[in-house]
Amino acid sequence: MCYSMADCLFCKLVNNEIPSLSVYEDDDTIAFMELYPSAPGHVMVILKKHGNNILEYSQRELGILMASVQKVTEKIEKALEPDAITIGINHKERRGVPHLHIHLIPRWENDKGGIIQSVVNNPPKEKREVIAEKIRNASV
Ligand SMILES: [Zn+2]
Repeated sequence: MCYSMADCLFCKLVNNEIPSLSVYEDDDTIAFMELYPSAPGHVMVILKKHGNNILEYSQRELGILMASVQKVTEKIEKALEPDAITIGINHKERRGVPHLHIHLIPRWENDKGGIIQSVVNNPPKEKREVIAEKIRNASV
């Protein structure tokens, strides 16, 4: 997919070209309220530098992102006292904004949500051992 930073919704947000409800910000990251929240306190955390997915950032940058996720997780826990928080990335999901973002979705008993494994129901046709061998042998 070809997508320029100039078109990127989250880059516009970082550059204050569109408004956002931020809840945390530092030199490299910003956390803001999801526009279409799945739950009260649904927040997204991004690196200010544009990148489509985790493969487009360095390990150092991803570490910085996860440090912010940790801070915002703690803030959400203190502010809203959820039972749990689902933390997730839709890697290369075409329906989302193509700027890496981590969803933090506060969870409460009986919120009609499932655990993260429940977002897909596509049981493998090959044995797990065969698939494991393919992944293990992939060169990166
Ligand atoms: Zn962007």
